[in-house]
Amino acid sequence: MKKRKTFLTILSLLMFSLLLSQGLFAETRGVENGQRYNRLVIRNVIVIDGKGTPPRGPEDIIIEGNRIQSIQAASRTEKSSEKEEHVLDGSGMYLLPGLINIHAHLHDSRAGIPLPFEYSYKLWLACGITTCRDVGSNYEKTVEERRKSQEGLIAAPRIFLYMFAGGRTPEEARQRVQEAKKRGADGIKTFSMDRDIMKALLDEAHKLGLRVAHHAAVEETDAWDDAEFAVTSIEHWYGVPDAALHGSQNFPPDYNFNNESDRFRYAGRLWREADPEKLKKVLDRLVEKQVAWCPTLVIYEANRDLMRAMNQPWFKDYLHPALDEYFKPNPGHHGSYFWNWTTTDEIFWRENYKLWMAAVRDFADRGGIVGVGEDAGFIYMLYGFSVIRELELHQEAGFHPIDVIQNATLNNAKILGLEDRLGRARAGYLADLILVDENPLENFKYLYPTGWMGFDKEGKLIQKGGVKWTIKDGLVYHAPTMLADVRKIVEEARTELQRKK
Ligand SMILES: [Zn+2]
Repeated sequence: MKKRKTFLTILSLLMFSLLLSQGLFAETRGVENGQRYNRLVIRNVIVIDGKGTPPRGPEDIIIEGNRIQSIQAASRTEKSSEKEEHVLDGSGMYLLPGLINIHAHLHDSRAGIPLPFEYSYKLWLACGITTCRDVGSNYEKTVEERRKSQEGLIAAPRIFLYMFAGGRTPEEARQRVQEAKKRGADGIKTFSMDRDIMKALLDEAHKLGLRVAHHAAVEETDAWDDAEFAVTSIEHWYGVPDAALHGSQNFPPDYNFNNESDRFRYAGRLWREADPEKLKKVLDRLVEKQVAWCPTLVIYEANRDLMRAMNQPWFKDYLHPALDEYFKPNPGHHGSYFWNWTTTDEIFWRENYKLWMAAVRDFADRGGIVGVGEDAGFIYMLYGFSVIRELELHQEAGFHPIDVIQNATLNNAKILGLEDRLGRARAGYLADLILVDENPLENFKYLYPTGWMGFDKEGKLIQKGGVKWTIKDGLVYHAPTMLADVRKIVEEARTELQRKK
């Protein structure tokens, strides 16, 4: 018996060294969560670039500090990689550029309950998001967060801060923009406004070299103005179908914009009123003026299927009680308007989605840049998970999964004006990369950090996939560890709330 055991040990050792010599066995070694290395090799991985080209590989990626030094055929580095100190084994995995969330909000409380920034940061990292464009939050607080992230002091995506700016007069709008520039904002976020004010605001922003994200609404200004004054990106979708109406939308006489229940109900009946011929002209005009579109399809999904939104499987372990409270119907909370939501509303919204998605697809076909963002923290949408859901919705809109990934990487980098360093798996670019333990092109559900159902070799039901490693600025994060940290935050917050009750 003992002899047999020794024989087996020798045999397995022999096989092990054989595998090693043939380079078939690349083990992960010398890598710790949250560390950056002078030299890190990702071995034997299939690469999806982010520029809209199909996967290729197996490749080896060499990262030096926070830069991608080279990407080359795995066979070329096979021998030398044995001597490497810091190695991530990418065998059977897919490597993508880190996802960019082009419409994020940094929240540190919801419904009066504290919500640590760490919670959303770790959810984002666990979902493979390495960059967030914050389009409006408490600037004083978030400016510190941006610094800490830049310096690698916290586990968080890169943060770009767009400061709210508006004004009662054109002169005031200019002052707000100047103030944002002085305070170091990366760009401007605006809401709907009158035409003269919008004109002044955009003029000032262009002079100061600030990008502008515009959340239009039912207002004097719409997508024609977004094109005319050349905003950087349209957020959501309001203003686009509005620009293709003949006059006003057919609102009932008792409609009140300030009543969110009214606002979201009749928003669901807007796209059907847009004149398709006029819409094409609007889209062409936006493309001509290089206005990008960040549709955030995910944030309105509750409108077409409320029960789906209320019962997302990850809520069980990952929904922070602050969000849970905030999402409950309450006229005092923005986006919590479902107290009298009806079957009829959902049916209108389903049609609304079809027309909206077709317009987004058409916009891209005409040459427009479409970006991926989530707007989570509102309307039952959880940070990070919502970005992955947004990818699914882009696919539903008619984008090939390869192009969906481009929307979330290179296109978003273009919207930030950083396409020369972010959003691609390319030598010379910043080392923002993710490793996924299945092929996301086959199923975007594999990108959910909780994975997706599948059978193992023995036919046992398991969770497959999930982002395994998220590399931001060369810092390597173990995604399941990030997720475990989030579970702990949620658990503690729930206990704390229970204690107070
Ligand atoms: Zn928003």
